[in-house]
Amino acid sequence: MDLGIRGKRALVCASSKGLGRGCAEALAEAGVDLVMNARGAEALESAAAEIRARHGVKVTAVAGDITTEVVRAAVLAEGPFDILVTNAGGPPPGMWSDWSRDDFIKAFDGNMLTPIALMQAVLPGMIAKGWGRVVNITSVSVKAPIGVLGLSNTARAGLTGFVAGTSRQVAGKGVTINNLLPGIHATDRAIALDGAVMKARGMSMEEVIAERAATIPAGRYGTASEFGATCAFLCSQHAGFMVGQNVLLDGGASNTTL
Ligand code: NAP
Repeated sequence: MDLGIRGKRALVCASSKGLGRGCAEALAEAGVDLVMNARGAEALESAAAEIRARHGVKVTAVAGDITTEVVRAAVLAEGPFDILVTNAGGPPPGMWSDWSRDDFIKAFDGNMLTPIALMQAVLPGMIAKGWGRVVNITSVSVKAPIGVLGLSNTARAGLTGFVAGTSRQVAGKGVTINNLLPGIHATDRAIALDGAVMKARGMSMEEVIAERAATIPAGRYGTASEFGATCAFLCSQHAGFMVGQNVLLDGGASNTTL
């Protein structure tokens, strides 16, 4: 399917690896020029070089922590953008009783205030052009809370509330904002969480993965490439009537009717 976005320009945050990388790859495959970002310059440059070589699109790499104002200014200076994909690392696991105010502020900065600041920066340009697509990578934890990821549950719920209202305010200008909610995907983040379970329960990595995969009706972890393909569809011409949705990609793991 031609996604109808060839020649558009996208900012894909936190995209040297994992789900962000999957989104960058799928947009590049659709002919979209990219600004990619991640903290580690080496992995970022190598991801950018691979995507350039594979898809023949223009790719600019801006290394740095997207949760800081200075790096947000640096990536935004590469605009204007037709497409924005927000993403950053997730907060660490823990217990509700452990987290201090500073822990919450850090989680809000990473997973709520950063995507909001990026949207505030790019939406005026998209509205002026009469076309734009924003996809925020959030988490299944917005629909079905994960106890040990309370910082994520909290910050992402705040972002979801912002998107619910704002998406309806900009929809009439040809700009859509939607959220993609990953369940368990085979990325470094999932491996790090599995590693913590492995240590805590004295299991092997294979046992942890098999146990978690068994909780997913699809019987496996998701892949970054199928996640990216869904993101690219949300950014396509065909998704112009999808507004303010929270699209769950979890292999059926959340046992809900709606
Ligand atoms: P990942 O495999 O660890 O990849 C994260 C990517 O983001 C890397 O490119 C990393 O590069 C970059 N990054 C992290 N923090 C950054 C920052 N502050 N500024 C700029 N770049 C940053 O993670 P993932 O699995 O793709 O997860 C992406 C998001 O989805 C996370 O918020 C995660 O919590 C959420 N999520 C993931 C899953 C899952 O199963 N994978 C499930 C639910 C939710 P550098 O380290 O070099 O910066």
